[in-house]
Amino acid sequence: MFPAKRLVRRSTALFLFAFFIFQTMGSAPTASAVNGWSRQQKPSRETSKPPARNPQIAKLVKEIDARNIENTIRKLVSFGTRNTLSEQDNPTRGIGAARDWLYGEFQKAAAASEGRMTVEKQTFEQPKGTRVPQPTMLTNVVATLKGTQTESAGRVYVVSGHYDSMCNSATDAKCDAPGANDDASGTAAVLEMARVMAKYKFDATIVFMTVPGEEQGLLGATHFAEEAKKANMDIEGMFTNDIIGSSLGANGVRDPHTVRVFSEGVPSNETTQEATTRRSVGGENDSQSRQLARFIKEVSELYVPTMKVWMIYRRDRYGRGGDHQPFLERGFAAVRFTEPNENYQHQHQNVRVQDGVQYGDLPEFDDFNYIADVARVNAAALAALASAPARPKPVTFPTSLSADTPIRWEANKETDLEGYEIVWRDTTEPTWTHSQAVGNVLTFTMKGMSKDNYFFGVRAVDKDGNRSPVTYPRPLPRAPRPDQSTQQPPP
Ligand SMILES: [Zn+2]
Repeated sequence: MFPAKRLVRRSTALFLFAFFIFQTMGSAPTASAVNGWSRQQKPSRETSKPPARNPQIAKLVKEIDARNIENTIRKLVSFGTRNTLSEQDNPTRGIGAARDWLYGEFQKAAAASEGRMTVEKQTFEQPKGTRVPQPTMLTNVVATLKGTQTESAGRVYVVSGHYDSMCNSATDAKCDAPGANDDASGTAAVLEMARVMAKYKFDATIVFMTVPGEEQGLLGATHFAEEAKKANMDIEGMFTNDIIGSSLGANGVRDPHTVRVFSEGVPSNETTQEATTRRSVGGENDSQSRQLARFIKEVSELYVPTMKVWMIYRRDRYGRGGDHQPFLERGFAAVRFTEPNENYQHQHQNVRVQDGVQYGDLPEFDDFNYIADVARVNAAALAALASAPARPKPVTFPTSLSADTPIRWEANKETDLEGYEIVWRDTTEPTWTHSQAVGNVLTFTMKGMSKDNYFFGVRAVDKDGNRSPVTYPRPLPRAPRPDQSTQQPPP
């Protein structure tokens, strides 16, 4: 930027600051004004108050049935093993039997959708690798419930569980690997959601997916995410449900009212340039995956009040991974659902009794009512996402230095759009604490609130009160300065 221009900008900033001082001079400063907003500007509503309830979502969560979940898990366990390297053409044992049974069940679910849900086997050859001793055919079973709103049908939410299982060794294709928790629980939850939600109409598209190869290195999920990226699919959120089966942990704690939702803060696919910007303006806690986790917590606790979403601010459990990762690495927002306290005697273990202790991932250690509740949390969040408008994007801060904070975004396309809301929170708050409806506008200025002191976001709202997840604003890229190769913030 030329020095003259910079001077103008500084003068403008000074003027705005003086104007702000002048504006606030009329009344004696109050405690809230010192905190950043005057009494008149204090918002009328906080996000912690429940948003409008969508009767369709309230209805569908009640239809999720623990008995269906139990039946699915027992059926999957009955195939003996679902190791990815196990038999593919035996109708009663091995991963092929599980694949074909799931395909049939998703087709039954689709029959109630009046043609909106289609089911496909996404089959591909996985080349030889560390945990794949020879090239192996893998099949994702994918049920797609097409959105009914023209402007939203291309917007996709994916919910997934992995139907493969393992005992001690990921390459032992012969041992019994019931996998009742890891991950028949997630698979059963996805199938039950498909069965219930196929009967309902949503604006956006929902993909109900069960995948193999998780234990061999997230192979099925990686294939889907890679194909989605190549096809430019607009995946706005992905949930993996993996080990959601037990409410009793190895620590002896029984907690059937909590589910962990893991979300990363710094995006897995962050570029060097983006990292430089983030270090300058902040945002370690505001990836789109983190906004998704906040959305899930806010919405699902409204419809499933007996369940608490325990947000965990990390990508996954310590040093471990899951099927949301390949999505994150390709720039899609994604989170992981897992029970609150795991028991490693029932994961990746040969079924055996040793020193009087039962090892193995057996159905007797599952809590089917708990799994149904986790499925309800998922279903409420998915239904809310697919009923709401798209999140606004891009959202930007158009100016750098100001006592006020103008925020700008581009118009949503939905015909039933009501307008937008600005949300904000103190920088140390985990979730959005305040919101303000600003109408159907494309820019709004938060008077007297500096973006130095708060985190802001924008979400879209439709005429029925369905709210999108929040988009965190990015700084507008500055024009390069001819006198300097690197861009420095103003002193
Ligand atoms: Zn798993």
